[in-house]
Amino acid sequence: EEFKKLGLIPPLLKAVDELGYEQPTPIQKEAIPLILEGHNLVGQAPTGTGKTAAYLLPVLQKLARRKKAQALIVTPTRELALQVADEVAKLGKYLKVRALAVYGGQDIERQIRGLRQGVEVIVGTPGRILDHIGRKTFPEADINTVVLDEADEMLDMGFIDDIEAILNRLTNRQQTLLFSATLPAPIKTIIKKFLGEYKTVKL
Ligand code: AMP
Repeated sequence: EEFKKLGLIPPLLKAVDELGYEQPTPIQKEAIPLILEGHNLVGQAPTGTGKTAAYLLPVLQKLARRKKAQALIVTPTRELALQVADEVAKLGKYLKVRALAVYGGQDIERQIRGLRQGVEVIVGTPGRILDHIGRKTFPEADINTVVLDEADEMLDMGFIDDIEAILNRLTNRQQTLLFSATLPAPIKTIIKKFLGEYKTVKL
């Protein structure tokens, strides 16, 4: 009921119900309508607040409506990439969305085959995403939605230049979402440089 009020479509409501989510969390209440409206967003929220579903639900809904739309979710670690890809599978159970995780340490040929088959959601770590871009095995031109998850973690791990390089290559970006527990100066610079007008959700 509460999820329905946020504007989500039946296939997502069904998935949410099956996962046993009864109420949207505060960040979901705020972020879902804003993302559905097409705004860029800075979400200042730590893990454990339901932030993953806060961006995945509206992003999946928008993907379901378009042809050939693709979303890229950038995460600091392989563990988070796999976790997010798993959540895409669960939340997108009743939509035709496929997710592929691309991260360092995994056989790149296998990832290339996956990318070539075409997927709606790519979840990956910065270095490996750049590797695919360099090899021209990445569907840069099709990516219209980008999510930077745990941006401050990526900064701490030394990925800030990689993130800039990735964003510079995604010239068909229409919506950019950035989640971070804190907003240190280099993250603010990324926001200023790449988000243009945006809304903020803070927990
Ligand atoms: P996150 O902050 O995205 O890491 O999510 C923390 C945990 O909360 C995950 O295990 C989610 O599956 C779960 N979760 C997300 N949204 C809800 C919700 N609305 N109700 C109950 N659990 C949720």
